[in-house]
Amino acid sequence: MALPTQTDDFPGWYQEVVRQADLAENSLARGTMVIKPYGFAIWEAIQGAMDAEIKRTGHQNLYFPMMIPARLLEREKEHVEGFAPEVAVVTHAGGEELGEPLVLRPTSETIIWDTYSRWVQSYRDLPLLYNQWANIVRWELRPRLFLRTTEFLWQEGHTAHETAAEAWDETVRMLEAYREVVEGTMAVPVHKGRKTAAERFPGAVETLTIEALMRDRKALQSGTSHYLGQNFAKAYGVKFLGRDGEEHFAEATSWGTSTRLVGGLIMAHGDDKGLRLPPKVAPFQVVIVPIFRSDDEKARVLEAAARMAEEWRAAGLRVKVDDRDDLRPGFKFADHELRGVPVRVEVGPRDLDAEQVTLARRDTGEKTAVPLGGVLDVLTGLMPEIQQALFDDAVAFREANTHRAGGYDDLRDAIAGEGGFVVGAWCGGADCEAKVKADTKATIRFLPIEREDPGAPCVVCGGAGTETATWAIAY
Ligand SMILES: [Zn+2]
Repeated sequence: MALPTQTDDFPGWYQEVVRQADLAENSLARGTMVIKPYGFAIWEAIQGAMDAEIKRTGHQNLYFPMMIPARLLEREKEHVEGFAPEVAVVTHAGGEELGEPLVLRPTSETIIWDTYSRWVQSYRDLPLLYNQWANIVRWELRPRLFLRTTEFLWQEGHTAHETAAEAWDETVRMLEAYREVVEGTMAVPVHKGRKTAAERFPGAVETLTIEALMRDRKALQSGTSHYLGQNFAKAYGVKFLGRDGEEHFAEATSWGTSTRLVGGLIMAHGDDKGLRLPPKVAPFQVVIVPIFRSDDEKARVLEAAARMAEEWRAAGLRVKVDDRDDLRPGFKFADHELRGVPVRVEVGPRDLDAEQVTLARRDTGEKTAVPLGGVLDVLTGLMPEIQQALFDDAVAFREANTHRAGGYDDLRDAIAGEGGFVVGAWCGGADCEAKVKADTKATIRFLPIEREDPGAPCVVCGGAGTETATWAIAY
């Protein structure tokens, strides 16, 4: 029952939290998972915030099929090579071998851009600002629940534009939308940046990313936004008659976030007792644990608990009364701590006599007695306070685990030692990038979106620095 500590065994801690908090479990096909109701409720909260932000920024949802003729995938060379090892192919159906195999979408650029070739004729048809919520299949050899699964849920935006400048603005806009949701709703601080050529999405001209730091000091890529240039328009023949009367290829972006965010939420906030959920994504923000010995006490306490729950729900809080009578209060306390419920309210006969309840905060462990008349106000005030406290905590952790490297020894020692983000100048050379990866397993997580002079020599080769790179070992 006890969790491994984060320090002793972080992967074991993660696995046990996912299992004991009832978030998800492995299923039968390799790398697939069952997302259980508590885990799915967390995903729905993130998904709802993300969907609202995607619509607020001017996009509409639509839906494309999950099976794509294999020949379509083959048209964009870099794209097909990038995804080939992960693609699952349907070869038989209807009792016979298919004349043409179908792939299960590893991402939908190919089918969408093939379709856009029929939707786009003139500049008047642009921009197309579409998003879909879908499941994706990428064959996974080392699966981990939420972080890497063969099938996962995500959203993928696919936009088409008249000009490169417009498409680039869109790429940057959606990265900011991701930052807004991940920081504002999940309380996970992220760095926005640009990927190196080696880390780019297959077929993209530039890939932008948001990167978060987990409590084992590894980085998690939490969302990506790609500027695709005309690569897909050329491969799939998306041409339009421009304002100048000439034919042009459309400019493209795509951007995605997935159920991986749930894994990030667990690892960015969790502690040795389990999850710590920000109120905005907590399936229950408040749990009431009734405390009683006799049947008389039980009736009195449960009635009071039901009344409070009703009042607080009417005020917009998500409240659960834990009235399971086969479990002791101490067990329930630990159970809700494991599940990360932001506030626990303990109510027993002595509390009712004194016209008060006891509140316990999950984030700080702090316990306070609050008069019955004032509980709702306190709870309502606590929700934004806990949301902010978890964010501040994660920012402080990230800052404490960000190091500057002046030379190669610094870089190597920082990564091999405490880990975290290590910032240093880089010459832009793929050799230097590969050397760090070979020596330390760390990769360049991001560069500033706009290139800037680091004002220092490359920490790897000592040559002229052209970029400020941030390295980390990543999921
Ligand atoms: Zn170098």
